[in-house]
Amino acid sequence: MTNIDFTKSADGLVPVIVQDFASGKVLMLGYMNQEAFNKTTTEKVVTFYSRSKQRLWTKGETSGHFLHVKSVQIDCDQDTILIKAQPQGAVCHTGADTCFGEKNDDNLQFISYLCDTIHARRLENAKESYTAHLFRKGINKIAQKVGEEAVEVVIEAKDSNDDLFKAEAADLLFHYLVLLEAKNIPLADVIDVLKSRHQ
Ligand code: AMP
Ligand code: ZN
Ligand code: ZN
Ligand code: ZN
Repeated sequence: MTNIDFTKSADGLVPVIVQDFASGKVLMLGYMNQEAFNKTTTEKVVTFYSRSKQRLWTKGETSGHFLHVKSVQIDCDQDTILIKAQPQGAVCHTGADTCFGEKNDDNLQFISYLCDTIHARRLENAKESYTAHLFRKGINKIAQKVGEEAVEVVIEAKDSNDDLFKAEAADLLFHYLVLLEAKNIPLADVIDVLKSRHQ
């Protein structure tokens, strides 16, 4: 790892951005001196230097809400640290998921993970996999399945049962992603089209 410039600020502290490794949400910002940094990288749990406590502060030391280190990066001029971490519980002392009032959900990132899984199922081509079974049936069948699920969404949209509607909406989204995979079109390409229309 490149040397961090702890001398840039007179107090020997460097700002540390802590980001959730799965959701990408910014969880909090703290400061580290050399000792806090060494402890953090050795123990794989985030320890800051607390400016108010004037001592090393392991985040979670009283609450149990530790930040487990997944990766450590240094910025372009070695004066800021980015830590990707897995939070064990609420990060903010107010009980909020993040110190910036955001919920730390990774639902949109899950779509990308699901696309990767669908791609892997296609390559593995396992007998017991429903996804692989769809690929074996071919593009026409998959496209037809998307049409059927779309009709089911239309039917449930007229009903008042939100759970049934959500289930059909999920079926449609899943089969739509399978169709993109079958056509070798990344979801990102479709999103590019949407972006190009969006002024
Ligand atoms: P903890 O480190 O979670 O055990 O919390 C110990 C104390 O650190 C709390 O009582 C707060 O004073 C402070 N603290 C905890 N989490 C944060 C945070 N995300 N940002 C600033 N201060 C915090
Ligand atoms: Zn910098
Ligand atoms: Zn906070
Ligand atoms: Zn369905």
